[in-house]
Order: sequence, then C-alpha cells, then structure tokens
Amino acid sequence: MARDLHERLKHFREHTFPRHEREYRKLMAAGQHPGTLLISCADSRILPHVLLEAEPGELFSVRNVGNLVPPYDDNAGYSSTAAAIEYAVLVLRVRDIVVCGHGHCGAIHALYQGAPKEAPHLAQWVRLAREGALSGAPDGRKMRSVEQHSVALQVERLSRYPMVRERVERGELAIHGWYYVIEDGVVLVLDAARRAFVDPAGEVPAEPLAPGAP
Ligand SMILES: [Zn+2]
Repeated sequence: MARDLHERLKHFREHTFPRHEREYRKLMAAGQHPGTLLISCADSRILPHVLLEAEPGELFSVRNVGNLVPPYDDNAGYSSTAAAIEYAVLVLRVRDIVVCGHGHCGAIHALYQGAPKEAPHLAQWVRLAREGALSGAPDGRKMRSVEQHSVALQVERLSRYPMVRERVERGELAIHGWYYVIEDGVVLVLDAARRAFVDPAGEVPAEPLAPGAP
C-alpha cells in the first residue's frame, strides 16, 4: 500500500473526483447536512460508506478502536469520540446515531490478551468494553457474545449523554446498536425489547444478549 499512496491520490483526482465533482462543489457551498452519526471500529475491514452505500455528505463518521463510547464527562477531558457526538447532535442535528460493532474485533480480543506494554492508552481505552467481558478465555461463539454485549453497553452509555437523552425523549433522535458479520455481509440489529440482535431481513436467527448485558 505504501508504494502507491501518491498513485492512489492521482487516480482519485483523475478518475473518481470528476464523477462526483458537482456534488462536492455543492456540498462546499451548502455545507454538510448528514442525517446519521455512525460510530464504528477503526478495523480496516470495515468500510462504513460502502456498507451503507452512502454518498459524500450523508454520513458523519467516527471511527475508534472497538467502536467504544466513553462516559459523558462534563469536565470535558480529551475525547474525540465525545466531541464528535456533541458536534453531531448539537451542530449537525443528526436524527440517528448508530454504534456499529463487528466480529473478530481486535479491541475485544485485547480485553483478554492484554495490550502491548508500551500501549497505556490502548489498555485504558479497551476498558470501556470491559463490563461486557466474560470470565475465562471465551471461544469464538462467546467472543461474538462479548462483542454484542459491548455494543449494548456503548448504546447505554451514549444514551446518558444529556444532549442525546433529551432529544431521544423528545423523539428527535434515535439510537441504534448494530453488529456487523463481515464475512457474511450481514448486519444484526439490537432489539432492546427482545434483548437480542436480530436480522431485519429475518433470514438469520436472533442472537440473544448474554445475561448481564444492559
Ligand atoms: Zn474492531
């Protein structure tokens, strides 16, 4: 990849940009009005715009290690994710926020395997998923359950941001928890009432949340 970073930029300018040029210019003049904030993992296998077939200007996207949401902190510590949530809700006035988790997530694995010794920020960050962890070393199926539990946890934490809570109560904003099965191209959706991740298309059986999930 490193070999061709500049080549890729050239290709974008010469081939991709011309196809969208009018759209980009319109967005520069009118400003952005995305309807959705998507919080997803930094994992290179996840392509949010491809997943949602989103055009420029449609998706306000935040990516971090593990699609985690820090607790709301009115002392305003350094958190790019909290800043993005505030910006999306208060300035862009998005109508939907999606927390999108996924399978085989390195952040969730780090809960069990530990972060490298020289990575204090990573070690601290993945603790945001810790309440979802199970004791012992889970197998693949249990790991999936921990990943889904973590999504429910982040949704719960997000709903405690005051500006989010107020708008959800007024019916102006909806929060969604998703679990992306990358290898199947399927997204399961958190159904809080059923306490399960369900397939909106009804083709994949529902996967109940682990006991103790929020
Ligand atoms: Zn991940």
